[in-house]
Amino acid sequence: MALEILQFPCLSDNYGYLIREPESGFTASIDTPEDAAINAELEKKGWRLTHILNTHHHFDHAGGNQALKARWNCTVVGAAIDRERIPGIDVALKEGEMFRFGETQAVVIEVPGHTTGHIAFHFPREGVAFVGDTLFVLGCGRLFEGTPQMMWQSLSKLMALPDETVLYCAHEYTQSNAKFAVTVEPNNELLLARRNEIDALRAAGKPTVPTTLAREKATNPFLRAASADLQKQVGKEGAPLWEVFGETRRLKDTF
Ligand code: ZN
Ligand code: FE
Repeated sequence: MALEILQFPCLSDNYGYLIREPESGFTASIDTPEDAAINAELEKKGWRLTHILNTHHHFDHAGGNQALKARWNCTVVGAAIDRERIPGIDVALKEGEMFRFGETQAVVIEVPGHTTGHIAFHFPREGVAFVGDTLFVLGCGRLFEGTPQMMWQSLSKLMALPDETVLYCAHEYTQSNAKFAVTVEPNNELLLARRNEIDALRAAGKPTVPTTLAREKATNPFLRAASADLQKQVGKEGAPLWEVFGETRRLKDTF
């Protein structure tokens, strides 16, 4: 892997990520949940921040943009359609566009649903993707701005990535997601086993993030609209997949 990835907790349940491409020394913060925590990690490593890659405009993702830009004079990269909402944006990208990051590159995937301007950054060569608040371990983002159809289409794009893709989510919501997941797929053995692993990790104070696409496809109810048992549990047997997804999301909202 030609990309060094540093993961650290921010705020109450966010993850901060710093990524560094060793040849160029390019160093990016994936979102900016908390400028002080990000600066502390940079100082520890002796790294200089060259970029901010924003997944979406929410305060726990772009709230540190201005302070970090003021200190490091870094380039802020975000979604073209969110140009007005990403503080300090310099480079505005659309679906499928590449962003050259030293010797490697990221591909932008538009994943509207949580917000209309949400994007994911996929590094195909390294097989990693930063998915913000679109997909969580055993969960997905709330639909603040998008429709179930829109979000299902976005999740379907992520599902089309290679199964071994390592997914970096922006929050540690896994334990509460697991509690819900077992109610809508109570017979999924992999899910039940995974819940136990998750409880053990959290009890040991360890993160459950990152995950892999393969694991999420097998256990995350929000990617499992095609599961006959899930369809039955949410009362949507034979319904269009986006509708099964939508009902699952609705149930989670009131869980
Ligand atoms: Zn958000
Ligand atoms: Fe968030």
